[in-house]
Amino acid sequence: MENSEIAKILWEVSELLEFKSENPFKIRAYQKAARNIEGLPLSLEESYKSGGIKALKEIPGIGEAIAEHIEEIIKTGDFKKRKELLKEFPKSFLEMIEVQGIGPKTAMLLLKKRGIDSIEKLEKAIKSGALKGLVGFGEKKEQNILQGITHKKKTIGRHLLSEAHEYADLIINQMGKIKEIDQLLAAGSLRRQQETIGDIDILATSKNPEAVMHAFVKLPQVKRILAQGPTKSSVILKNEMQADIRVVDPKCFGAAAHYFTGNKLHNIKIREMAVKLGLKISEYGVFKNDKQIAGKTEEEVFESVGLSYIPPELREGSDEFEAAKKGNLPQLINYPDIRGDLHIHSTYSDGANTISEIAEFAIKMEYEYIAITDHTQSTRVARGQTAREIIKELEHIDELNSSYKNFKILKGAEVDILPDGTLDYKDELLKELDVVVAAVHSRFKMKKDDMTKRICTAMKNKYVNIISHPTGRIIRRRPPYELDMEEILKTASDTGTYLELNSQPDRLDLSDVNCRRAKEMGILIAINTDAHTKETLYFMQFGVSTARRGWLEAKNVINTNPIAKLMKLLYAKR
Ligand SMILES: [Zn+2]
Ligand SMILES: [Zn+2]
Repeated sequence: MENSEIAKILWEVSELLEFKSENPFKIRAYQKAARNIEGLPLSLEESYKSGGIKALKEIPGIGEAIAEHIEEIIKTGDFKKRKELLKEFPKSFLEMIEVQGIGPKTAMLLLKKRGIDSIEKLEKAIKSGALKGLVGFGEKKEQNILQGITHKKKTIGRHLLSEAHEYADLIINQMGKIKEIDQLLAAGSLRRQQETIGDIDILATSKNPEAVMHAFVKLPQVKRILAQGPTKSSVILKNEMQADIRVVDPKCFGAAAHYFTGNKLHNIKIREMAVKLGLKISEYGVFKNDKQIAGKTEEEVFESVGLSYIPPELREGSDEFEAAKKGNLPQLINYPDIRGDLHIHSTYSDGANTISEIAEFAIKMEYEYIAITDHTQSTRVARGQTAREIIKELEHIDELNSSYKNFKILKGAEVDILPDGTLDYKDELLKELDVVVAAVHSRFKMKKDDMTKRICTAMKNKYVNIISHPTGRIIRRRPPYELDMEEILKTASDTGTYLELNSQPDRLDLSDVNCRRAKEMGILIAINTDAHTKETLYFMQFGVSTARRGWLEAKNVINTNPIAKLMKLLYAKR
């Protein structure tokens, strides 16, 4: 059983408990454990097999009770508590709550008054006018819900980038050991680092395709085989994702890699360009009068239509061709450009590791600095600190800093933006911090104008450096707040406030599209992890992927700077 499956069960239980209005601290414990597990580099099942429940408890953020739950999940493949809760609330009903505009209360009302317990029934009811007369329902609300349903339907069957990576990496790793395989590549939306992924598409070259097919369908991640052919096979993995493998001729590996990486629109456009030049591009190569003239590498494919190599993350069928023609493609940011992380939680609030544990880990990652940004008093469920409590933390950081060479812990906080746009700490205290990350953690459903004003007011505070997870979306779970994004970007630009690209795989907030808008407006981005465990500092890779999709270069990102320049940027507003 993979970690992501265990995490998924815990997430689901937390959602079910939320629905029952259970104690928020209890709900939080499940969420915290799920989140920690998602980021673990080691297999929980293996740890458990070698060290029992004791080994589980050594993992940060996993206490006695959760360790026992995990034991049950590993042993039985499920969790009794989850099954009991699901009896009360069927799965289809839970999906319904993920539709924007349907909160737990509304869902309960729909169930009791109209017997509606699924998205399908809800859609039908709205379209047939069956909700007329129901308290709180009107045409506008119904239209909003219909929109929410359309949005929700798009994410069904899609998986987070982190989950797709976990499986693809395992598969590539094992297949890579097979001596019959020469070249191996995970193509598709995964290679383009899209925020959610449908299927995993693997390409290989081999002199013995049948041995490759045989090994592929026998992988331990495979749940069932859909098709096994001589050069192509499809399976369903244990996380319900589909994975396909194709063995192609080495002569056309580049053309196949390009074709199966997509996206569709990009492929259509490049084929049209080829036709104008009297060429034909397909997954089998670049052809002139039925004779293959290129296609061994992707570079050759681009060259054949007079383009420089376009990185996969930019292949969206938009203006990447124009940029490639003019030699204007961005020098995309790379993971090693990152010199530190400016949004991390420690045991001073809801993080699982002490500051010195985090620092040691960051030093191993070759970071030059980190900022510790624990929650503030208003976010009580996350053990937010009062003004008095954080003073101790700041002193502790000073102490630790005196023992490091060439590494610095910045003093920070993730300060709540209160509904009126004021901050959870007074300016006198904010002044003492090196990094003020400000974020909305409450009243997500404010009206568009009010929410926009709330965040803009916070940006006008001269101590606020970074707006964290600016739109508040949780991929597949919660839509963004209603926001006037243009106004937010304009105010960020006017006030010199940086915007965060939060690297949590279910946030990736700002999105790629918004990152690109920010770049065009000259706004600098901080790519942070918002890590609650030291291991999840590695989520940085997903932030960098999204930044690349947003055309960002190292110079657009503040935490690619050496410490002296970074400090200047952090104090620029004061
Ligand atoms: Zn936050
Ligand atoms: Zn945070």
